[in-house]
Amino acid sequence: MFVSGRRLLFIPGPVDVEEDVLLESAKPPINHRGREFHALLDETLGLLKRVLRTRNEVVLLTSSGTGAVEALAANFGPRRRVLVVNAGEFGGRLAEALRVHGAQVVEVASELGTLPSLEGVLEKIEAVKPEVVAFVYNDTSPGIRVSYARELCRAAKEVGALVLVDAVSAAGGDELDVDSWGVDGLATASQKCLAAPPGLSFVVLSEEALGRLVERPTTVYFDLRRYLDYLKRRETPFTPAVTLVYALRRALQRILEVGVDSWIRLHVERAAVLYSAFESLGLVPFVRREEHRSRTVLSFTLPGQRDLGEIRRSLSENYGIEAAGGLGALGDRIIRFGVMGPVKYSELVALVTAVGLELRRRGVEADVEAALSKLEKLKGLYEALRIR
Ligand code: PLP
Repeated sequence: MFVSGRRLLFIPGPVDVEEDVLLESAKPPINHRGREFHALLDETLGLLKRVLRTRNEVVLLTSSGTGAVEALAANFGPRRRVLVVNAGEFGGRLAEALRVHGAQVVEVASELGTLPSLEGVLEKIEAVKPEVVAFVYNDTSPGIRVSYARELCRAAKEVGALVLVDAVSAAGGDELDVDSWGVDGLATASQKCLAAPPGLSFVVLSEEALGRLVERPTTVYFDLRRYLDYLKRRETPFTPAVTLVYALRRALQRILEVGVDSWIRLHVERAAVLYSAFESLGLVPFVRREEHRSRTVLSFTLPGQRDLGEIRRSLSENYGIEAAGGLGALGDRIIRFGVMGPVKYSELVALVTAVGLELRRRGVEADVEAALSKLEKLKGLYEALRIR
């Protein structure tokens, strides 16, 4: 344990959780078939719909985000022709889950750090005539966001395809209008931009999706029909992580106290400032095109250095700051900072300073003062949103 007793999590989730949220999960478990739970689930799902800005049906699962993605794959994939836009590790996993559940998958992929062009994807949709189009809105591994998500949804709907989206690292932290974009099945989880503890995930289902669930899903635990059925009596088919639902409710209330638009704005503006601050330190954003850069997980390379693992380890040992490397092929070629949830201004100062000092120790001309003065642009926003 680091001296302060609490390490700063700048990994791509789980994120730091506020104390009042954590304390909620210390409440005693209750009967998940009783009135008290019915009221808790009802209220929590109501809050979640407000945070995700959807009127669609929301199903709560006791699993990490992968469970929600798998639920989409098992309930919409079997025997269907699916086009997957793959811009990184999680795009690959989405395609894998769909294949495992019996979908015929066609992938449109691109070099890591780039997105497949929208034109290329549209041509493929035209050629393949998929029954389902699936993509990861924010691929956490290279730190890339599908900036044309809205257009992609529209194009998919035009050919009558269902749209499935993994928004595990985006929902609450990036622009996303589930209903008006026409997302039919959305998967997300508790431990990232919603700033709740890990262990819960969610599937949002459109009216159309409800009518197009496959006849025989290739799963028992994630059979969405069962969840929808139990939802009528405000229950889940299997034992839910009751105490995590308490914590989630408080985390959602916190977001609504700030306001959903403001919460998203916090992520978007904070990321823009941080990219620029880290550039002053000599790091180079791994994703070259600005509009494709993730607003929640920021990834960087360092010119002349192919192994950034040492920097990551040093941040952990010397400053109690946890950052991440890349996944799969990227490994320690990149360093990633997950910046989701409230994250105090002072913690951003600590992050930028520690990274700057680490780089200087390695002979990089890191301009820590310039980086910190860029960071000051966020002070007003933090004040206005009363995030301290
Ligand atoms: N999809 C994306 C885009 C993610 O970033 C992650 C986790 O980082 C997952 C899916 C898997 O989520 P979990 O680790 O909660 O299962």
